[in-house]
Amino acid sequence: MESTDTWRGEEWVVRRVTGAAAVKHYRCPGCDQEIPPGVPHVVTWPQLGAVEDRRHWHAPCWVARDRRTVRQASRRRSTR
Ligand SMILES: [Zn+2]
Repeated sequence: MESTDTWRGEEWVVRRVTGAAAVKHYRCPGCDQEIPPGVPHVVTWPQLGAVEDRRHWHAPCWVARDRRTVRQASRRRSTR
């Protein structure tokens, strides 16, 4: 099941991954912790971006992404 969400001025596709479909370790960019196999989570990518830009997030971290990505936000600000 997919939906779209807005983040950093872009549309992001958000797909829910069930525990059964989660077969690898991923690193959540929100909390910098691993998502172990078997844990339901979400995978997101920019609607206009590349598939390689996909990121796996804990579902609560994605919901709280604006509070979780301080480093990325400050880096983006400094390039302006
Ligand atoms: Zn997380």
